[in-house]
Amino acid sequence: MKITSRAKATAFFITLGACLVALTITLNVSWIVLHWREAVPLVLGIILFAFIIAGVVINTVFLVREIRRNEQHDSFLNAVTHELKTPIASLRLYIETLESRHMDETKRREFYRGMLQDTDRLLGTVEQVLKASEVRQRSTRRNWTEVNFGKLVLETVEVARERHRLKPEELHLENAPGDEILVRGNSEELRTLVLNLFDNAVKYSDERKDIAVEIKTPTLDTISLSVHDNGTGIPKGELKRIFRRFFRAHSAKTKQVKGTGLGLFIVRSVARRYGGDAYAESAGEGQGSTFFVRLPRVYRA
Ligand code: ADP
Repeated sequence: MKITSRAKATAFFITLGACLVALTITLNVSWIVLHWREAVPLVLGIILFAFIIAGVVINTVFLVREIRRNEQHDSFLNAVTHELKTPIASLRLYIETLESRHMDETKRREFYRGMLQDTDRLLGTVEQVLKASEVRQRSTRRNWTEVNFGKLVLETVEVARERHRLKPEELHLENAPGDEILVRGNSEELRTLVLNLFDNAVKYSDERKDIAVEIKTPTLDTISLSVHDNGTGIPKGELKRIFRRFFRAHSAKTKQVKGTGLGLFIVRSVARRYGGDAYAESAGEGQGSTFFVRLPRVYRA
């Protein structure tokens, strides 16, 4: 219902903007016809109309963008609420069952495991939201050390395999990173960056997962991390937009996957703060995708 009214509002403002521009152009043409012999009013009129047209166009673009942003905020709030509510409801059910029934040790342990998974999910969502607001603030470079990036990626592969119960061949490293791939930064932040890419590759792949991770050093002072998956892929028009805060792709498949639209925003913000960047490549929907992160390398000759 809300989306329909937003779509209507967007259409209304675009139409209004177009009508106002058309009206101004008509007035401008009439002005030129009426004053074509008088240089001063003619030039002044043309300049004034140009300003009015530019103003109307800017105003319309701004309004439409605000409406879209509002829409994204709403769906973000819905997604976060859902991500918080589901594990809380599940935890409550576990506790109620544990309290009301006597159960054997094995069953009880299974319940505890389920509860731990729910708290991990809750913690994951809260950390994602906190991290997204943290990366927007200007960072201090306190706690920055030289981090062994190759080792960090190897450890994160293990964490992701464990978290998503993946077989080694489902998430694998294409090459064994050398010891000397060092980045100056905060290891916690770098781990979040890498884990977000792995989580996405898993989330947006179907049952048959084939995720390939590669670390390269294209130049002596650059590191390139790539994460390739054979999942849903990304339409060309969305390759840049997916890095925006709250942005979630509109395809039906993506909509089935839960998310907040913050993961890639965090990835790119962290990469840029370190003097690097992040981008995505995909041949289109259903064709898989590859995410690249470039980071400056600490290199000693
Ligand atoms: P979230 O996954 O929570 O929606 P992200 O910022 O991590 O937020 O991703 C933004 C959007 O980018 C996703 O909604 C999805 O449409 C798209 N996306 C991210 N990673 C992938 C991937 N590996 N394959 C296909 N689409 C992806």
